Amino acid sequence: MIIAPKIKGFLCTTAHPAGCEADVMSQIDQIKSGGPIPNVPKRVLVIGASGGYGLATRITSAFGGGAETIGVFFERPALKGRTASPGWYKSAAFSKAADEAGLYAKNFNGDAFSQAMKDAVIDTIKADWGQVDMVVYSLAAPARTLASGETVRSVLKPIGEPFSGATIDFNSRELRRVALAPADEAEIAATVKVMGGEDWEDWIGQLKDQGCLAPGCLTTNYTYLGSEVTFPIYYHGTIGRAKEDLDRAAQALALELSEVNGHARVIVMKGLLTQAASAIPGMSVYLSLLFKAMKAAGTHEGCLEQVDRLFRTQLFSAVQRLDEAGRIRMDDWELKPEIQDYVQSHWGQVTQDNLDELTDFEGYRAAFLNLHGFDFEGVDYACEQEPEVPMAVQDF
Ligand code: NAD
Repeated sequence: MIIAPKIKGFLCTTAHPAGCEADVMSQIDQIKSGGPIPNVPKRVLVIGASGGYGLATRITSAFGGGAETIGVFFERPALKGRTASPGWYKSAAFSKAADEAGLYAKNFNGDAFSQAMKDAVIDTIKADWGQVDMVVYSLAAPARTLASGETVRSVLKPIGEPFSGATIDFNSRELRRVALAPADEAEIAATVKVMGGEDWEDWIGQLKDQGCLAPGCLTTNYTYLGSEVTFPIYYHGTIGRAKEDLDRAAQALALELSEVNGHARVIVMKGLLTQAASAIPGMSVYLSLLFKAMKAAGTHEGCLEQVDRLFRTQLFSAVQRLDEAGRIRMDDWELKPEIQDYVQSHWGQVTQDNLDELTDFEGYRAAFLNLHGFDFEGVDYACEQEPEVPMAVQDF
């Protein structure tokens, strides 16, 4: 079939297999072109490995550091004429490339919150590796089913005050007002349950109890703080509460990991368009302004460039750039005064007429299409595609 983007609101319901593969292959080439990365742990578990920061971390570990990887994700294979989700195609492309390079890579597709998933991954670690050297928790999930069977859902809402901002429609380029009422206590608690540190602690606790954490084991979790203009909807909102909970969890884990001489780190990454980020109200205007300013300054990075710089300069370095909460800061270029001056002085001034002049909405839109495997140079989108792409995966 010929596969074209089908965009509805902030969702694209199709994905292009050849485009997703081209994306992964170019990320692999890019990481290899920087040369081998020293000190990368050799047995790496990535939870949330099929998109955004998790996929970039898996690619960097494997093709920059020569690591064996286990990837956990929740993706949809192609079914009855529907394409698979982008993360399926990207994980299939990663696995094929790892296989060809002789790099161990196993995949687990299903709910990372579930006990069945944890049991299966831990069994595989025991059987194949004995122990794991690094656990990267990079999950961005809308909901979590608890052991009781109850499903709790995260919400993206402000706390205390209502939020009023703008969003840009990917299809029509129309700038629309968004207004959100503040979250109630139950919504805040549910968001912390889904996106806070509890499940990260659960994974590490179970791995430790089963003797699977290697001496010196490192675990990381990605967070976002953002800029003053996004505080009302992000850091001071429900998702920010969940992110605060990661700092608490990192401290608890540091204590737990001290028994194996291990470490837990929260890492602040820059704002980027990923599947998860595309759903955050108001982020489209912020990121379009940010892309404009950072591209002009020559400091724009994607997920791979962020993780590459993290691995080469911070994560395994004896001298790390930590903030007062002990987090590694990779949002340093985003928060440079000249970048934030641009964003803040134009925030609130963006209109339909000046969209292309003030912002990089075109770059933002291209990043959205790229997420789904569209708009890559060298891919023939007029060519017939087989939507079913096989991948060796354990399903749950
Ligand atoms: P993403 O949407 O690109 O990837 C999310 C991953 O989680 C995918 O692999 C998906 O399959 C997996 N996943 C979701 N629900 C799952 C479940 N129930 N079980 C198993 N896997 C599941 O997201 P991302 O933007 O890369 O986010 C990863 C982390 O990075 C999040 O903690 C996010 O807050 C953080 N972060 C993102 C940004 C940003 O701007 N995108 C910035 C800083 C930090």
